[in-house]
Amino acid sequence: MTSTTPTDINNRLWSQHIKNLTPYVPGEQPKLANLCKLNTNENPFAPSPRVAEAIVAALANQADTLRRYPSFESDELRQALADLHGLDLNQVFVGNGSDEVLAHIFTCFFVKDRPVLTPEIGYSFYPVYADTFHIELAKIALKADFSIDVDDYRRPCGGIILANPNAPTGILLARGDIEKLLKEHTNAVVVIDEAYIDFADVAHASAVELVKQYDNLVVVQTFSKSRALAGLRVGMAFANPSLIEALTRYKNSFNSYPIDTLAQAGALASLQDVAYFTTRCHEIIALRQDLSARLTAQGFDVLPSQANFVFAKPPVGLMNGNAAQIFAALREQGIVVRYFNQPKIRDYLRITIGTAEQNQRLLDALAALAE
Ligand SMILES: *Cc1c(COP(=O)(O)O)cnc(C)c1O
Repeated sequence: MTSTTPTDINNRLWSQHIKNLTPYVPGEQPKLANLCKLNTNENPFAPSPRVAEAIVAALANQADTLRRYPSFESDELRQALADLHGLDLNQVFVGNGSDEVLAHIFTCFFVKDRPVLTPEIGYSFYPVYADTFHIELAKIALKADFSIDVDDYRRPCGGIILANPNAPTGILLARGDIEKLLKEHTNAVVVIDEAYIDFADVAHASAVELVKQYDNLVVVQTFSKSRALAGLRVGMAFANPSLIEALTRYKNSFNSYPIDTLAQAGALASLQDVAYFTTRCHEIIALRQDLSARLTAQGFDVLPSQANFVFAKPPVGLMNGNAAQIFAALREQGIVVRYFNQPKIRDYLRITIGTAEQNQRLLDALAALAE
């Protein structure tokens, strides 16, 4: 009989590809008492009540709702997204969370013989996808103030991907700069990951409208952050119909039904409750401004955020400015933020915008730690 320890089984049966992978590590979902969870950029508010109503209504007809396969192209949901942005149905793709949409994008557009350009500090899933799909990434340094200089991307490449606002910095790249990238790289797909764009409070922050003008642009968005539906798993991409067709071809060669019937109903209902969405986004923007100002007053160096989190460097007077130790001390009190033990950002904490009460609890805890 062959040996059966996990290591032996892995050595014998895993493909070399799987052995070489380093998976993405999501922010923890701790089970602490009295938890103040400011670590994964979830929305601090509940989703629109219409979401649950729509799901319950769909279930009322459960003989059909759950027995039948879902709409495999999610037509109604995609049409609502198209209407929202003044696009056509064939310019919209949806997937099981934007992470899945991003994975399809890497497969469809980035498997090229040139490296894909991405900011050195950015969403940590991109290097994981690159690894998974054997794509070379060229990481481009940020400026000293953590902003992106698009002139640094002026080189031959197999594509460009960046989060805007960037994660974990929260800094927004101006739409004019995105147009520069699109014009300079007409033979490469430029992907703008707008997971946090609904929290931007400047005009024309989103690149979605540019989809009508540039055939090499893909804009990715999600219901997870601004619509408070991280658990529903719905993400989307907007692009020229030919690029959408590529994504659809791939989807239908992998999993034809990525969005289940209940998720389609819930996501659609969320889009229909415009007033709720707008109000909640404005509330979070106001809470961000307040938290940024008060952290600054406590001596933090807070980067200018257009997202639902802030990236902030603690002052020397607070535990010698040691972000790792502050992270640990907060966690002991049930306040969980995000710390990245990585070059250039290990002096910073990423703090999700919470409710007014949560933000107050954080600020009080920091003030106590500084004493
Ligand atoms: C949260 C996040 C995503 C993933 O969102 P899902 O739709 O929940 O998969 C994608 N990109 C960035 C930059 C994010 O922060």
